[in-house]
Amino acid sequence: MDPYPKPLRELITQLKRLPGIGEKTAARLALYILGDKSELASAMAQALMQVKEQIRLCPVCHNLTDRPRCAICLDPSRDACTICVVEDPSDVLALESSHEYKGLYHVLHGLISPINGIGPEDIKLPELLERVKNTSVKEIVIATNPSVEGEGTAHYILRLITQIRPGVHISRIAAGIPMGGELKYMDQVTLASALRYRRGLKDQ
Ligand SMILES: [Zn+2]
Repeated sequence: MDPYPKPLRELITQLKRLPGIGEKTAARLALYILGDKSELASAMAQALMQVKEQIRLCPVCHNLTDRPRCAICLDPSRDACTICVVEDPSDVLALESSHEYKGLYHVLHGLISPINGIGPEDIKLPELLERVKNTSVKEIVIATNPSVEGEGTAHYILRLITQIRPGVHISRIAAGIPMGGELKYMDQVTLASALRYRRGLKDQ
């Protein structure tokens, strides 16, 4: 017999649908929400509704926004000649936190994955090609993750853009030894990647 009353079980069931939340964590969160004396439950319910109602995709870069265009696309100080291609909106947030990149973005919302039946048309890749055709972009920085799908998608983009506009410079973010890392603890793939993407010290 389920020890939880039905509405509590329902909340636990819904919380368990979130990534990384198992039965125990869901039960702990549900009991916390139930026991909270402030307006946590209604504020949370309202925030959940608002996020679904008001957040949309920027029609230019497909990043998340609550305005007709996202803040990055609207910022006149950003370099409109450079587009950084990422898998999803959380990658934009991660790259922005580095304060190193000053160009625009293009969020693919996925990667090409033949094994999972995801082709170029299933992600925002046709939209990227349209941007390359119709804007003054000079450089594309491909920042997909260094996974099989990330590498495959990067090469696909390279091939198509080279066909459409051969003059556009296409670069790939470096992958290899992280800051503070030690060679002896790195796996073979990481070491191979670090060697492949080596850079000249004089270039900096
Ligand atoms: Zn945008």
